Amino acid sequence: DFAWMPDLIAANAAARAHAPAVTVDDTTWTWSTLAARSNAVASALQRDGHAPGDAVSICALSHPNYVALWLGALRAGVAVAPLPPSATPSQIAAMVADCGAKLLFLDAASESALAGETMHAAHLRLDTDAFDAWLSDDAPQPVHIKPKMPFNIIYSSGTTGVPKGIIHSQAMRWQHLKAGPALGYTPDAVTLLATPLYSNTTLVAFLPALAWGGHVVLMPKFDTAAYLALAESTRATHSMLVPVQYRRLMAHPAFDAHDLSSFQLKFATSAPFPAALKADVLRRWPGGLIEYYGMTEGGGGTVLVAHNHPEKLHTVGHPIPGHDIMLIGEDGEPVPTGEVGEIVGTSPAIMNGYANRPEATAQTFWTGPDGRTWVKTGDMGRFDADGFLQLMDRAKDMIISGGFNIYPSDLEAILSRHAAVVEVAVIGVPSDAWGETPVAIAVLRPGTTPDALKDWANAQLGKTQRLAAVVATDELPRSAIGKVLKRELRDRWTLPVP
Ligand code: ATP
Ligand code: MG
Repeated sequence: DFAWMPDLIAANAAARAHAPAVTVDDTTWTWSTLAARSNAVASALQRDGHAPGDAVSICALSHPNYVALWLGALRAGVAVAPLPPSATPSQIAAMVADCGAKLLFLDAASESALAGETMHAAHLRLDTDAFDAWLSDDAPQPVHIKPKMPFNIIYSSGTTGVPKGIIHSQAMRWQHLKAGPALGYTPDAVTLLATPLYSNTTLVAFLPALAWGGHVVLMPKFDTAAYLALAESTRATHSMLVPVQYRRLMAHPAFDAHDLSSFQLKFATSAPFPAALKADVLRRWPGGLIEYYGMTEGGGGTVLVAHNHPEKLHTVGHPIPGHDIMLIGEDGEPVPTGEVGEIVGTSPAIMNGYANRPEATAQTFWTGPDGRTWVKTGDMGRFDADGFLQLMDRAKDMIISGGFNIYPSDLEAILSRHAAVVEVAVIGVPSDAWGETPVAIAVLRPGTTPDALKDWANAQLGKTQRLAAVVATDELPRSAIGKVLKRELRDRWTLPVP
C-alpha cells in the first residue's frame, strides 16, 4: 500500500497531457508542460550531484517553477525544505543551515532580503532565465526510494517559539495522498489555494490535488476581492483557507454577488475557527465545509464534516479514521470523558522527528501504555459525550489564576458573542494577587467601550474567571499563516494589573 508521488504525476501527464495542471497569475501549464519541467529539474539536480535523501530549499512566493521544483526534487528523491519568505533573513539563514540544503531557490524579493546574510547553500533564482538555463534536457535517472526517506522538511509555524524542522517521510505523505480521491481530488477538481507553499496547511491540499490529476490554482498573495474573482472565473471546486481568510471573505461587501456554485468542498485548519463563522460559511457559501485539527508533526488528527454536523460547530470533530487520540493528565493517565487533558495522538502519519533537535523530538514523542509512539500536541481539549473533540487552548496559553485553570478559549467564546467584537484574544498577565490574571485584547466596532465590554463579559463569567481588563487594539498580531501570536501579545502589553 504505497504509491510514489512522481509515478502518479507521470500517469497524469500520460492521461491528460493537454489539461491544465497549474495556474499562477497569468501562467497556466498543462500536465505535459508540468511533467516536462519537473523532469528537467530532477535531471538538473542529478547532474549537480544531489542524491536521494539530500535536501533543497525554496524561499519564494508561489510561482509555476516552485511547483516544478517540488515535483522535480521528489522525482530525484531529494527532499524539499520550503521556507517562509516572511521570516527574518537571519531566521531563513538558520533554517537553510538547519535543513542541510546545498541549494536554495529564491525569488527577487527573497534574494534582496537575504543579500547581507551568510548562507550555507548556493542559491539560484527560480524566476529568471538563469533557472531555464540550469534545467537539463536529459531524462532523469530512476532512483530507489525507501518508505522512511524524507519527502520534505517543513518548519513549524513558530507560534510558540523557534520554528522546528519537521521531517516527513515518503510513507507518511502517502497517508495524506491516499485520502485524496475520497475528498473529491480527482482530475475534475479545481483547487484554489491562497496560502503559502511552505506551510503544511497548504500542502495537505496541494499535494493530493496534484497527485490525483486536478488543476491547482495558486494565489501568491491573498486578497479578498481577487480570491472571489478567481474562484468564480476558474470554477473552483476545492479550497483550503485559514479562519482569518474566511472571516475576511465573508465580510467582503461583494461576497454574496459572486457565483460560487462550482464549490464542492472547502477546508480549514491551523487556528481556532469560531462556530458562528463556520455557520456563516455554511449558510452563504455553496458546497461543504471540512475542518481539520492537527499539527505538522502528525500523530492524531480530527475532522469535522461541518455540513453534516451543524450542531457541533464548536468542536473540531472526531478522530480521522485510522488516527487515535487520547487526553491525558499531567501524570500521563487518561482523563475521564468530559474532562480537559492534553491531546496526544498517533497514526501511520507521524513525522520522523525534528531535524537536529533530538531533545525536542524526545519531548514530543510519547510512548503510550500500548507501547506505540504517540505525539504530544501541547494542546488541551475535551471530548463530549458523542466523541467530538472540543479544543481548549495550547497548554502554554492556559492561565493559572489563584490556583484555578482558566482556558482563554472559554472567555474568547463569550466575548465573541458581543456584537461589537470583531476579534479577541485573551492572555494571562502577571498579577501579584493571583499569579496570573486574564486580560482581553480586542478589535472593536463602534458600540461599546473596553470597560463596558469587560463588565458585560464579567457578568457572565465565574468569579475565578473574571477579566482584569479589556484593551482595545486595531489588529491582533498574526503569523504569516494567520495564527494569533499570543506570545507577542504577552510581550507587548505591560499592563497595570490589580
Ligand atoms: P510551533 O509548533 O512552532 O509553535 P504551530 O504549532 O502553530 O507552531 P503548526 O504545526 O503549523 O505549528 O500548527 C499546529 C497547531 O495549530 C496545533 O497544535 C493547534 O494548536 C493549532 N491548530 C491546528 N488546527 C486547529 C484547529 N482546527 N483549530 C484550532 N487550532 C488548530
Ligand atoms: Mg506546534
